[in-house]
Amino acid sequence: MQRQPLVIANWKMNGSRLLTSQLAAALREQAALLNDVAVVVCPPAVLLPNWQQEVFYDAVHLGAQDANEHAAGAHTGEHSLQLLSEAGADYVLVGHSERRQYYGDSSARVQAKVDAVLAHAGQKLKVVLCVGEQEHERDNGETVKVIEGQLATALANVSAAQLAHVVIAYEPVWAIGTGKTASPQQAQEVHAFIRNWLQQQYAAAAETVPLLYGGSVKADSAPALFAETDIDGGLIGGASLEPDAFLAICRAAQ
Ligand code: PEP
Repeated sequence: MQRQPLVIANWKMNGSRLLTSQLAAALREQAALLNDVAVVVCPPAVLLPNWQQEVFYDAVHLGAQDANEHAAGAHTGEHSLQLLSEAGADYVLVGHSERRQYYGDSSARVQAKVDAVLAHAGQKLKVVLCVGEQEHERDNGETVKVIEGQLATALANVSAAQLAHVVIAYEPVWAIGTGKTASPQQAQEVHAFIRNWLQQQYAAAAETVPLLYGGSVKADSAPALFAETDIDGGLIGGASLEPDAFLAICRAAQ
């Protein structure tokens, strides 16, 4: 099945109003590229309204970097799906390794967040589930076991019909923000495993799920990664803060 390439920018706790207008201006000039490649920008939540004011082609969407699993209430500092959606987010990252490592996103919490995103407002939102092994787990030959465990827990309550609202990002933890990228072959092996696993659980519905690679993707490493059969695009951290580099990565996904 032909899936549209997808590239997602994860600004993390970076960016500014100025960078918002700069990247939006750069994207606005890319009508032909955006016809082929769907682009999602996940700025810090406070910048979503600024992004919302920019002019977009249909292929540019906004995303949130995280969301609280509860609908509303006493959760100081958190953002609800309703508010994120009102601020323009169509996608929500869930289970990013920085959230799992530093902000208490346990497997159970990741599962609750996936369920909450998919239950929200008749599934208008899409969830971008991040999975990935740590360096010692790869060294111990446990990569596939770790990925399988993360997928099984996070998607435990997800039906085949809901899978149309799921994106999976394979992000080896040792490659995030470190400058170390998985080789195209290493990434392809894990992506092929994920695709197979999805097929076993969901049969044909698995074909719709975009599988993205993330982990220090740069303009020069993107073409070989995106050329792999089971890599449908990328989740881009550091390089998404440089409009020229980000556009080059989007072009590599074309
Ligand atoms: C990320 O945070 O999702 C990521 C892939 O970051 P970087 O590209 O900077 O490694």
